[in-house]
Amino acid sequence: MDRTGVVLVAAGRGERFGRPKAFVELGGRTLLARAAAAFEAYAARVAVLPDAAFELDGWTVVAGGARRRDSVAAGLAALPPTIDTILVHDCARALIPAEVVARVVEAARTHDCVIPVVPVVDTIKRVDGVRVEETLDRAHLVAVQTPQAFRRSLLERALAAFPEDATDEAGLVERLGEAVHTVEGAPRNLKITHPDDLRLAEALLT
Ligand code: C5P
Repeated sequence: MDRTGVVLVAAGRGERFGRPKAFVELGGRTLLARAAAAFEAYAARVAVLPDAAFELDGWTVVAGGARRRDSVAAGLAALPPTIDTILVHDCARALIPAEVVARVVEAARTHDCVIPVVPVVDTIKRVDGVRVEETLDRAHLVAVQTPQAFRRSLLERALAAFPEDATDEAGLVERLGEAVHTVEGAPRNLKITHPDDLRLAEALLT
């Protein structure tokens, strides 16, 4: 645990939500406070917030960038050089269960990149505008969650290799041709993206 660090990304503008999600309250606590609480056991913790002037007890705070990858890179740069395994977590997944973190961390002992996933329950189709182009085989599809674990050198290499943004950093590792290992996530670990998701999260809390 000593050499594992956390980057909690919370610098998004919350465009789909309508306001920055980090400070939205869920059951009397902000999403930021809830997500941060899941990682308190780690000594090296960086929260990437819309502004470096914010304070989060026990966390180093840095300002995020315009794109997700810029925020991850800013957080990574603020971790001490002794940290060799990085957990990147989306603040929007405020209900992260401890057992998902534990599964990711355990697998990261033997794999350089680990992501938690859940099966896809809907049928997924690829579309061009309103026209369906293809129905994908659900048996081979999963939905990807965070925290995602990376050997530091691999994450740095992936960020350096591809200048474009990505919806998750494991996607950049894949593009390098390196292996990404999956472990079981949890339906409860939903990403609070739209106001309706907040109501769902409130229901899950009770
Ligand atoms: O936009 P999206 O929902 O994919 O954001 C996922 C997470 O990344 C959120 O917790 C958000 O605050 C964070 N983020 C960030 N900096 C950005 C964009 C997103 O820290 N520029």
